[in-house]
Amino acid sequence: MKNNKFFNMSNFMGMDSSYEEADLVVFGVGFDGTTSNRPGTRFASTAMRNEFYGLETYSPVLDLDLEDFNICDIGDLDLSIGNTDIVLDEIYEGTKDIVNDDKIPFMIGGEHLVTLPAFKAVHEKYNDVHVLHFDAHTDLRETYNNNKNSHATVIKRIWDIIGDNKIFQFGIRSGTKEEFDFALKQKHTYMEVGSINTFEDIVKSLDGKNVYLTIDLDVLDPSIFPGTGTPEPGGVTYKEFENIFKVLKNSNINLVGCDIVELSPDYDSTSVSTAAACKILRELSLVTCDNKNKK
Ligand code: MN
Ligand code: MN
Repeated sequence: MKNNKFFNMSNFMGMDSSYEEADLVVFGVGFDGTTSNRPGTRFASTAMRNEFYGLETYSPVLDLDLEDFNICDIGDLDLSIGNTDIVLDEIYEGTKDIVNDDKIPFMIGGEHLVTLPAFKAVHEKYNDVHVLHFDAHTDLRETYNNNKNSHATVIKRIWDIIGDNKIFQFGIRSGTKEEFDFALKQKHTYMEVGSINTFEDIVKSLDGKNVYLTIDLDVLDPSIFPGTGTPEPGGVTYKEFENIFKVLKNSNINLVGCDIVELSPDYDSTSVSTAAACKILRELSLVTCDNKNKK
């Protein structure tokens, strides 16, 4: 029997299914070891669990409620912080367990490099997986600070695995000329520069396909999302961004994994950035579960 006099505020509200019964498993990955500018994303999941308490479990925009789905907040991965290679392996193994148990992993970073090992685990099960990527930054460098594995190279490392015609980038407004040429001229990825207007058409074109969704929250404009290590003016509003959840709800794509990364809560003393991240977590959890139930 459930004792409703108590609750555990260290868990995301409305994500209290057991691991066994869960369709969606939410977990934090507090790693910011390759952050180039301002670190602090390691604190994101903890800040979000506290902030999430201020959010309703019901989304009026989607007409869906967290209480109606089986979601497990399993906590944070126990990481060997200080050794990037070992950490990446730990994220890979942790995600692989969830995927092998036929559950959808939803990772909260952390810096964007954490997407690479999580994606690898998902890709091993779904070889044909496509990637939808929101970001202010291209993340297509070959190396950064002499490092092949960095939050500035993560999408290039994913391209190394899946190649052309599989990666779709939105909101991008910062990167080197070589990176933009790689996408726009050589067409190794699809890229919408500075806005997210073509998302709906792209999602329609991916009808029936397996999709991994990675959201670098710095795609949002710094005026509403200053809590990040590499803020980049010229981003989208929350209102514009909200439309992607409606598009996903009405779509026929098969979401097999997702993440939200790069919230660095301590750079925003108002905590509004953390609140925005929480709302994105809620909406995306809802559409992912709804999407799975429709299958
Ligand atoms: Mn970014
Ligand atoms: Mn990024």
